[in-house]
Amino acid sequence: MITVEEASGIINKNLYKPKTEEVALSEVLGRVLAEDIYADRDFPPFNRVMMDGIAIQFSAWESGQRSFEKEGIQLAGEVQKTLKNPQNCLEVMTGSILPMNTDAVIPYEELDIDGSAVKVTSDTIKQNQNIHSQGADVSIDEKILSKGCLISTAEIGVLATVGKSVVKVLSVPKVAIISTGDELVSVEEMPKDYQIRQSNSHVLKAALKESGVEADIHHILDERDLLLTRLKAIVEEVDVLILSGGVSKGKKDYVPEVLNQLGFQKQFHGVIQRPGKPFWFGVRQDNKTVFALPGNPVSTYMCFQKYIKPWTFNSLGVQLPQEMAALSEDFTFKKDLTYFLQVRVLNVSGKLMAQPVAGQGSGDLANLISADGFLQLPADRSLFKAGEVFPFIRYRRS
Ligand code: AMP
Ligand code: MG
Repeated sequence: MITVEEASGIINKNLYKPKTEEVALSEVLGRVLAEDIYADRDFPPFNRVMMDGIAIQFSAWESGQRSFEKEGIQLAGEVQKTLKNPQNCLEVMTGSILPMNTDAVIPYEELDIDGSAVKVTSDTIKQNQNIHSQGADVSIDEKILSKGCLISTAEIGVLATVGKSVVKVLSVPKVAIISTGDELVSVEEMPKDYQIRQSNSHVLKAALKESGVEADIHHILDERDLLLTRLKAIVEEVDVLILSGGVSKGKKDYVPEVLNQLGFQKQFHGVIQRPGKPFWFGVRQDNKTVFALPGNPVSTYMCFQKYIKPWTFNSLGVQLPQEMAALSEDFTFKKDLTYFLQVRVLNVSGKLMAQPVAGQGSGDLANLISADGFLQLPADRSLFKAGEVFPFIRYRRS
């Protein structure tokens, strides 16, 4: 058995090697950019009017003129017009190009309009006011996004503005999720007294989706030969297998030996942790990777959040920030194991406080919905004092 730190170290030495692919803009949220992005025009690309109102020549105002005759109107999306008489004004709309021969925009709120006569009521007009000048934000050919950036909703706007309808991003691993267990039936079925509906695959699929990874779901009964033939076929189609169940000491826990038969080299089997102790991890020469997680729902979930999610992001060169939280009350845990305590967190004056949520152990799926994440308590002691700060693995934001 190895420690949690050793397990993380081994997993993160066996990363998936991404390729690049072209993806439609509508699908790139949460993906990692694989090309530098340059401005194809100035931002903004023309002197942009920022208020609805009138545009004047500032020198007219400066020489004392306060009333202007409307010469016409410049609408957004129209070609640039020209103010012919410097004593006049042009009505302008937000988003329109600034008319030629004008250099100040005065909003309607500061005007008295009577037909075509416009009187300015404000006495503090400045040259270039309410004009977003061409190139003020970004100049043409300037780099605005760099390779390796994780695309959030903010980046989507920039990509759209520079005309990237198709974006080069890093590929994500192809994943198959496989649940094992003779006692499990599908969600659609009515379980008999001694059966349960299988939930892990659905949790894993949804959790992967949150990390930008799509996965197929399979279920295999606890039969050695069946497991071998099914896994042999499935592994050909994917980069990663995530299994749940069948890795403990039960009579029908065939997963480790079958993976071995399929050419996967065990990197570890057993981590000094609760939940998730029987966790098995292996790789094959062709760089295919297997996470074989214990089937208890909380174990499966914890192992995903602690190991698989960071592995996915590390593979793409993205370091997830490590949140920390302080225990809100004393907590004791007697065993020499790293304990992943389910906690609910509360932000108290800018500090994250973690309140233990008592559960019934690693099978207590319902408890997960009362908590926000796991507080990682170290193995080397059994008393954890209120106020002490530990790594917090969050799975809920609200
Ligand atoms: P195992 O790791 O196969 O020994 O399973 C441990 C416990 O987790 C057993 O009580 C299983 O019924 C349960 N379990 C295993 N796989 C799943 C699953 N996919 N969904 C829900 N519970 C599961
Ligand atoms: Mg089982």
